[in-house]
Amino acid sequence: MDCIFCKIIAGEIPCFKLHEDDETLAFMDINPANEGHALVIPKEHSTDVHAISESAIAATVLTAKKIASAIQETLGPDGINLVQCNGPGAAQSVLHFHMHVLPRREGDELKLNWGLKPGDMDAIGALAERVRAKL
Ligand code: 5GP
Ligand code: ZN
Repeated sequence: MDCIFCKIIAGEIPCFKLHEDDETLAFMDINPANEGHALVIPKEHSTDVHAISESAIAATVLTAKKIASAIQETLGPDGINLVQCNGPGAAQSVLHFHMHVLPRREGDELKLNWGLKPGDMDAIGALAERVRAKL
């Protein structure tokens, strides 16, 4: 299957991994909307909220909670959005269910459908190490 997130799960594409368990994987987004932007995905492939199994979405949300707390401890943002997009009208670009863990700063004026800007890979990798230390 030609799914970029399935390839990350299989280790065919590298990622800055934060956490892995039997059902989920968490890693840094390489086009961070804000510093510390991470993704949580189920290992079981499904496209969106309509297709995903109850057990996979439950596991994904539980991992997102862990990652959000570790990011909160690491960066001390003013808030965190858990965002999840379904379909083209919601700007879903990768058709494998995922949750964004998105640290927010007061006044950052981040909008939904924030667009993709490549991040600094050295900085993202270093931050991944700091977040992992809090897990
Ligand atoms: P969506 O727009 O579908 O809600 O979010 C997809 C996210 O996946 C985007 O934030 C994008 O930056 C991220 N993304 C796409 N390809 C890759 C990749 O190869 N590696 C990582 N780490 N993130 C990716
Ligand atoms: Zn997939």
